[in-house]
Amino acid sequence: MMNPADLHIPGKRRKFIMDWLKTRNERKLKNLWRMADQTREAVVGKDIHLRGLIEISNLCNRQCFYCGIRKVNKSVERYSMRQDEILEAARLAESLDYGTVVLQAGESGYVSRDFITEVISVIKSETGLAVTLSLGEHPEAVLEEWKTAGADRYYMRFETSNNYLFWKLHPDRNDGLNARLKQLRTLDQLGYETGSGVMVGLPGQTLEDLCNDLLLFGSLNLDMIGIGPFIKHPGTPIGQNPDYFGKTLCSSRAELELLTGKMIALTRLLYPAVNIPATTALATINSSSGFKIALQCGANVIMPNLTPPNYRRKYEIYPGKGCSELTAGEQHAIISDDIQNCGRLIARGAGPSQHFIDEHHQPILEFA
Ligand code: SAH
Repeated sequence: MMNPADLHIPGKRRKFIMDWLKTRNERKLKNLWRMADQTREAVVGKDIHLRGLIEISNLCNRQCFYCGIRKVNKSVERYSMRQDEILEAARLAESLDYGTVVLQAGESGYVSRDFITEVISVIKSETGLAVTLSLGEHPEAVLEEWKTAGADRYYMRFETSNNYLFWKLHPDRNDGLNARLKQLRTLDQLGYETGSGVMVGLPGQTLEDLCNDLLLFGSLNLDMIGIGPFIKHPGTPIGQNPDYFGKTLCSSRAELELLTGKMIALTRLLYPAVNIPATTALATINSSSGFKIALQCGANVIMPNLTPPNYRRKYEIYPGKGCSELTAGEQHAIISDDIQNCGRLIARGAGPSQHFIDEHHQPILEFA
């Protein structure tokens, strides 16, 4: 049972994944953590890439039933950062020696084509940072313009591969999952380093769904894969009527952590060269060891939050997200400790994924 070679045999892959997702045997699980950690060490090494997360606006026109900043949540005080504030946060990232900033926001008119184009151009001309966008869905022409302006990467989760569950969580969307998958393929074609991911423990989600999520990653040619636990937000339809949305796979925080860890480890085994963040959501449900758990089962990226504290509190997609009052420096010290305690190193530079490098490497022709 659970022969790692089965991962590479299409007919056996699904059973291999399901066996791991089902098992509660701690002795066997130690093997999974070890295999994922060894794969990470062999393929992407000890380096941890730090990305400064800047949550540039919480304005949103979407109704995602799990998200605390959904359009109709009237208790959220809305904000949008000015260009000079975004640039200041980017400079902070540079001063901490981070190689990348991630610009994240809800979907709204604030994220206008021109504004983002200008922000990208300014960051690229005034800093040496790589720019990742996490701004949801936009027309191809817009994505192309942002790429031309200098954006390097795009991160957009498809959230779940189960079409029915996706619709249940986003009933305002017509064919929503397919639209997201289509954009992910477009991003790849446009030359973005492309990231996606899912939430674990959504109500109504099954182990088969998670297995399908893992397999779908493979058909999207992803460079980065982010996996975090779903955290119930009281100000959302799921928070208010959890039973309507179905049972969740995890009845305790420990089970949710374990299942998230398994998904990260299996992602590393299936797609050895991708970048995998230790997500803030995991560090939120386990503040003392969330990052460490992820780092020890395959993750190689952390995204410290560089949103100015007065805005950070207002970007509460799940409870506890923005409550940290730590300064960027204090946060950096804690994360550096975690990294050191896991025997790992903080990388310098932009830190593209090995998968992206392998795919775009132009062999140098040697003539005898
Ligand atoms: N508007 C952007 C950014 C969304 S926020 C976009 O559409 O891509 C980034 C991610 O946070 C989401 O993709 C989702 O996976 C996650 N998220 C949202 N609500 C959450 C919750 N309640 N618990 C855990 N993760 C959540």
